[in-house]
Amino acid sequence: MRLVLLGPPGAGKGTQAHGLSKQYHIAQISTGDIFRQHIKQNTELGKKIQVYLDQGILVPDELVNHVVEVRLLQEDCKNGFILDGFPRTIPQAEALISMGIDLDRVINVDVPDETIIKRMGGRRVCPACGAPYHVRYHKPKHKDICDECNQPLIIREDDQEATVRKRLLIYHEMTKPLIKYYQSKNILLTVQGMGDAEEISEKIIEALGENA
Ligand code: AMP
Repeated sequence: MRLVLLGPPGAGKGTQAHGLSKQYHIAQISTGDIFRQHIKQNTELGKKIQVYLDQGILVPDELVNHVVEVRLLQEDCKNGFILDGFPRTIPQAEALISMGIDLDRVINVDVPDETIIKRMGGRRVCPACGAPYHVRYHKPKHKDICDECNQPLIIREDDQEATVRKRLLIYHEMTKPLIKYYQSKNILLTVQGMGDAEEISEKIIEALGENA
């Protein structure tokens, strides 16, 4: 099974991709996670892309396409995969075709902008151990303090409200055209991304089952 998860930043694509990769025994490929890993390890690629991630803007297509092409050649993708956060532009979708990849389904997780802003604005992270929190959905035991290492929590640069709004604008301009693109190929499934992660996951699995 070769799947893509499409949706605005903060739609919960990462959580859904994780669940689907377990459900269908396929590899989960998150370009955002790959990039964050490079930044953490201070690799050459990490140094090049940090500024894009901090500002919430898209990494240039050539860099992303290369990373994905290399990743898709790995053994664990033979059985299938779920791409989370790629493609994000029409040229990236076309690069997938050039790589000889035939997608089975593209799942579009639909969430209104204002919901995204509320969700992402509430995210907190521990600067020391990286543990994630949320002011409403996953509170630390003591307000704004990490449960694990007692450090004051921070708002990640790309979760700042101004950055989130910018990322949403970029999503509307660059990524949303992919909805029509995949609709015209008859492989798009749209699922409402409101509610808790489990409900959304059930909706996705049901839609995939109905359209298998
Ligand atoms: P994510 O975790 O998917 O929200 O991605 C975090 C950041 O990584 C994005 O804001 C972009 O800067 C970069 N990024 C991830 N995937 C892509 C992609 N397919 N194209 C361009 N930039 C990307």
